[in-house]
Amino acid sequence: MSLTDQIKAEARRLGFERVGIVPAGPALTHGYYRDWLAEGYAGEMAYLHRHAVPKAHATGLLSSARSVICLALNYRPPEPAGNAAAGAALRGRVSRYAWGGDYHDLLHERLERLAAFIETHAGGTVHRRGAVDSAPFMEREWAVRAGLGWVGKNAMLIDWELGSYLFLAELLTDLVLDYDEPPAAPRSAGREPRRDRGAENGGGAPALAVADLGLRESCGSCTACIDACPTEAIVADKTVDARRCISYLTIELKGPIPADLREGVGDWIFGCDVCQEVCPWNRHTPETREAAFLGNSSRAVPALPELLALDESGFRERFRGTPIWRTRRRGLLRNTAIALGNAAPTATPASAVTAIGALATALGDAEPVVRGAAAWALGRYGGTAAREALAGALATDTDPAVQAEAKLALAASPASGGPGAVTPHRGAALVD
Ligand code: SF4
Ligand code: SF4
Repeated sequence: MSLTDQIKAEARRLGFERVGIVPAGPALTHGYYRDWLAEGYAGEMAYLHRHAVPKAHATGLLSSARSVICLALNYRPPEPAGNAAAGAALRGRVSRYAWGGDYHDLLHERLERLAAFIETHAGGTVHRRGAVDSAPFMEREWAVRAGLGWVGKNAMLIDWELGSYLFLAELLTDLVLDYDEPPAAPRSAGREPRRDRGAENGGGAPALAVADLGLRESCGSCTACIDACPTEAIVADKTVDARRCISYLTIELKGPIPADLREGVGDWIFGCDVCQEVCPWNRHTPETREAAFLGNSSRAVPALPELLALDESGFRERFRGTPIWRTRRRGLLRNTAIALGNAAPTATPASAVTAIGALATALGDAEPVVRGAAAWALGRYGGTAAREALAGALATDTDPAVQAEAKLALAASPASGGPGAVTPHRGAALVD
């Protein structure tokens, strides 16, 4: 068995369902990436600008790179019991990739084991470097070139059998290996590289998008993800304006979620799966084989009032070592308040009482971004209790941004018609 075949067999043994290998070289769609940055689509993710230079070539990650081993692992968790309750009982939703433990830890550990195997079997020192999503590497382009799938209109890497609930990882090495040939697009499906982009691609040449690589793609005429996106974040084929994307808004954005996008966030409190849920290529895909990615209802559809009552130590205890850690307590509670506000139109009277109590308490939170979101959410309920709480914040909160939120919320909230004269409570049971 060749070394390449041994590496692939070991990768599969380590749990990677897909492995493909391509020679290291320039990233062919780098100009497209630079255009995407220039449009401002990265929002506040400054690290994506810093990554622009190393992303141009595989050697940006490993200077001696000769080969890129592309790997994919299916994380699709089974739907936990209680998921059907989402939306009906003040519950939020969490993107599936965050239902389990921190995937970075697991993938890096597997990459290390694969690297150790390669060193043993290559018979000498091997330079290598592993990468998992946040590294400066154009991982979807490389995955496509390695034959792992295509990039769908929702900008996700989609495998023809496994769908798109995939974690991608790469191992770069200075070994020369045998390379994969990705499936080519049928001749009739070929298209001209887009001409409206690419001044930065060198010599005025058009910037290649992944669709221009001449490889097989299978979205066809489907537009389900574009049509279903709650915030209209998919602005073109494979192009997501992160500033509108719920994943960015609930995870990466540090300040308040822009007012015009709050309703679209719905009940998502960490990430968003809508453009994957509607994708026909995810309809019949297998569940993950990894125990670490299995969810439960408290992770998949957590009770919102309970989350809003978390203090720092409660947050640490519940979310350390999980992907949700990234958004920190203040981000999670901001999102939770927004989701509670979005539950107002469908809340039962009892649920509304619970929500208003939790939100009124959150008006006393130490974080202005949480207080501001709570004020907005209270304005969605209206009624005596919500309005009294807002008036109190307007009179006592010293943060101008929170004051402004409270003022707007008071102006927008109905004086009656909400759940009525409810005294905001502290410390009572918060989930009905
Ligand atoms: Fe739209 Fe959600 Fe997909 Fe972002 S993750 S593009 S908000 S559907
Ligand atoms: Fe492609 Fe349709 Fe899936 Fe979007 S929903 S990625 S258009 S197949």
